[in-house]
Amino acid sequence: MTKPIASAQRTNEILKKFDMYAKKSFGQNFIIEGGIVEKIARNCNCDDVAVIEIGPGIGALTEQLAKRAKKVVCYEIDERLKDVLDYSLAEYDNVEVIFEDFLNINLLEKVNELNNHYQRVVICANLPYYITTPILFKIFESKADVDNITVMMQKEVADRFLAKVDTKDYNALSIIASVYYNCKSVMKVSRTIFNPRPNIDSTVIQFYKQENAIEIKDEQGLFLLIKGCFKQRRKTIYNNYREFLQDKDNATHDLEKANIALSARAETCTLDDFIKLKGVKDERESLCEN
Ligand code: SAM
Repeated sequence: MTKPIASAQRTNEILKKFDMYAKKSFGQNFIIEGGIVEKIARNCNCDDVAVIEIGPGIGALTEQLAKRAKKVVCYEIDERLKDVLDYSLAEYDNVEVIFEDFLNINLLEKVNELNNHYQRVVICANLPYYITTPILFKIFESKADVDNITVMMQKEVADRFLAKVDTKDYNALSIIASVYYNCKSVMKVSRTIFNPRPNIDSTVIQFYKQENAIEIKDEQGLFLLIKGCFKQRRKTIYNNYREFLQDKDNATHDLEKANIALSARAETCTLDDFIKLKGVKDERESLCEN
């Protein structure tokens, strides 16, 4: 029986056969532990549906997804991997690899197309660490109908997404992501299961749709306000917000009307607090215009 692609032996054999090396600039760290890719594929709930994978690399996770899903669509930026993937995934006829930068694709269109043919669409990936946040926000902001997003990322970034209000890791990222999805930790992953070995550990987390997602009018405006309030963590929300507005009287007015103490810090505020603050700001600005 052939070993899984996610094994030290197969990975070395494939890399050697194609005279390949992992490219640091593309965030390439290949998983060489079969149990890990199997567990990620199992947890992403892709049985008999369609999966989109970002960055298949030499196919370690793709192989496990292909065994379960009806269809696997992969986006890979590195064209050197064309021959490699043709070879490593030769026995799976349900895999399509598109050589394109994921950040440039029309995700909504692709997800709609897949949803027309399959029961559900999920996204699964061992993300390139250098663009974890842009990739996730592209998915979130596309508003594509994706059942869940199961992704491996640097442990420290995962900690921020998973953070609860009033903890050290809670920040703008935690709040903005919570507008779209809930998230939970799937597993911790040691740096020792990669080739080449990175100098950080990882966590797999799963984002799943909010049951009662709030409809937000001016999403980008709200996100700018949240980022502004977290600009300097050691400062009070008043100091950050005043700087964001460039006006101390309006900052005092808005925070007081939104029932947020001037001495509070942004990490003690919930998404609802920020929505309220944005509402007060919008109302004040519309009164000024009239
Ligand atoms: N899935 C493989 C695994 O788990 O062994 C490889 C994961 S590796 C951490 C990240 C992969 O993402 C690499 O194959 C890399 O070339 C690819 N990648 C990096 N930037 C990308 C982008 N903008 N669009 C699509 N793929 C990208």
